[in-house]
Amino acid sequence: MRHRIAVIGSGPGGLAFARVLHRHGHPVTVLERDPSPDARPPGGMLDLHEGLGQLALDKAGLLTEFRALSRPEGQAMRILDTDGTVLRDWRPGPDDLANPEIDRGQLRDLLLGPLDVRWGRSVTRVVPGAGGGAAVHFADGRQETFDLVVGADGAWSRTRPALSPVTPHYTGVTYVETALDDVDTRHPDLARLVGDGSLAVYGVNRSLVAQRNSGGHVRVYAKFRTPLDWHADLDLADAEAVRSRLLTLFDGWAAPVLDLLRRGSAFVHRPLYVLPVSHTWTHVPGVTLLGDAAHLMPPLGAGANLALLEGAELAESIAAAGPGELDEAVRAFEERMWERAGRWAKITAAGLERLVSPDPAEALALFDHVQPS
Ligand SMILES: Cc1cc2nc3c(=O)[nH]c(=O)nc-3n(C[C@H](O)[C@H](O)[C@H](O)COP(=O)(O)OP(=O)(O)OC[C@H]3O[C@@H](n4cnc5c(N)ncnc54)[C@H](O)[C@@H]3O)c2cc1C
Repeated sequence: MRHRIAVIGSGPGGLAFARVLHRHGHPVTVLERDPSPDARPPGGMLDLHEGLGQLALDKAGLLTEFRALSRPEGQAMRILDTDGTVLRDWRPGPDDLANPEIDRGQLRDLLLGPLDVRWGRSVTRVVPGAGGGAAVHFADGRQETFDLVVGADGAWSRTRPALSPVTPHYTGVTYVETALDDVDTRHPDLARLVGDGSLAVYGVNRSLVAQRNSGGHVRVYAKFRTPLDWHADLDLADAEAVRSRLLTLFDGWAAPVLDLLRRGSAFVHRPLYVLPVSHTWTHVPGVTLLGDAAHLMPPLGAGANLALLEGAELAESIAAAGPGELDEAVRAFEERMWERAGRWAKITAAGLERLVSPDPAEALALFDHVQPS
């Protein structure tokens, strides 16, 4: 008999899980809070690493489609000093497919493919059953039981409390995100400044990063160390007030760099939260977690990659499990996930310390370590 399996969340992790199970002919119920795939802007670019996100797409049979959509040139990285001096200008070689970029919306559509997601299904809690399996409770008061519930419901997971009392804590670093559209026609000077990939400028305890997305869209992140209440005297919905505060915070930086903030549209406030490095739990039959729900870490190029690979690996293990082996497959998956995610959580925590640091030379040293010339 086929197991009844549900995954909560249609982010990269949940969709990779469902898509790989689907490829193996195993039915899966995808429960998503958003009322439709386009209910929210999908977010910026993701660089998918060869041994992580790309491996997951290979397991889903989607690597060729990914290669057609992704932008290898988006790996380019330019670093400026705060006075505008170019410190590094790295471009990938023509065959460099190590970390090509893809728009999140394109990745989501690629993974969605034939999947039948149940949209508008907001989960409030998951309760493990006494004899295995788990009940999923919904905001409309209904509930449904499954043999296995996979919580891929992100940073503020409603599944996690069934397994762990731990909640995310603030890192001390906040991102404020803005964006520019049609840069090649409306802001050609900034299009040239950003180039094909990313531009980064590192100052004392702050940095500014701009990233080219497809379709002439550029996302800009002002990153700074600050207490959580830095905006106590500010209306975050007032774009001009936020812009003015950011321009004060980045005062003295080169004019073209500040133009990225001057010409940006709305501002999105993103205080960075993380789960403790090496977050684990005592295994409970019938429920597990993957992706940010299991190991929220600083956004330094790993989170979506790990979520994708974990989703694909858990699906493969379940598809290969014989009768009575489902729980053992999940338990083995958790051990593998904890070990790998723990390593990445340490790397990204140390990375955040160096990229938003009292000593901007730390960021440059990190870049030279990762991308030796
Ligand atoms: C600014 C920024 C830049 C980033 N850049 C990168 C990058 O370049 N590379 C990279 O690898 N990672 C990056 N990340 C991290 C990456 O976005 C996350 O690690 C990744 O999205 C995690 O995927 P997930 O599937 O675990 O969760 P999510 O993407 O958070 O998806 C969770 C899903 O669950 C749904 N959901 C939540 N609660 C419920 C509920 N109660 N009921 C039903 N559904 C629910 C949500 O609506 C959502 O669809 C970045 C993050 C940020 C903030």
